[in-house]
Amino acid sequence: MTEHEHSQGEPRKGATSGGLLPGLVKGLITTARVLGRPTHTTEYPDAQPYLPPRSQGVIALLEENCTSCMLCSRECPDWCIYIDSHKETLPATTEGGRERQRNVLDRFAIDFSLCMYCGICVDVCPFDALHWSPEFEYAEVDIKDLLHEKARLGQWMPTVPPPPALDPSSAEPQEITAANKPPRAAPEARS
Ligand code: SF4
Ligand code: SF4
Repeated sequence: MTEHEHSQGEPRKGATSGGLLPGLVKGLITTARVLGRPTHTTEYPDAQPYLPPRSQGVIALLEENCTSCMLCSRECPDWCIYIDSHKETLPATTEGGRERQRNVLDRFAIDFSLCMYCGICVDVCPFDALHWSPEFEYAEVDIKDLLHEKARLGQWMPTVPPPPALDPSSAEPQEITAANKPPRAAPEARS
């Protein structure tokens, strides 16, 4: 008989009535001890869980900030951001001025069945068009329905918490300084 076969025939340690009874009593004592303690679980969906305000639930899109630069789509490791756009020509605003071109966003979609919530797209967007929302109740029965277009991504913007207050001793943000600059004088006034 090999050592393995021999050990299979032996009763397991603690499985005898001598080991089982103290174990049972110990288990009952533990149950009695924790029975009166408050529970740490919530009965979702009847009770909403507490989530930190900056939870990364879903990505919201502020469409008017998006310039269709494609940076988020290129940097996404899962290639789950889909962007379509076209160019639009804007007429010159001054006499003799040049026409200008700008991108118009036709489609912006994120496939949350592929997204791994890394946040790279939010971090790389140079125009603050993508934001984390703590919203998490968007589960679907069919995985294909997790592909969300810009209209749905925009609906999550109101759930995005405002940015934290600036440190009182920090320098004034460049955007505020630029906005507070007095307008340049017209050429006639200068002469
Ligand atoms: S969070 Fe990451 S994986 Fe998801 S869309 Fe953004 S870059 Fe892609
Ligand atoms: S969301 Fe940001 S990074 Fe992505 S295309 Fe729009 S402006 Fe560019």
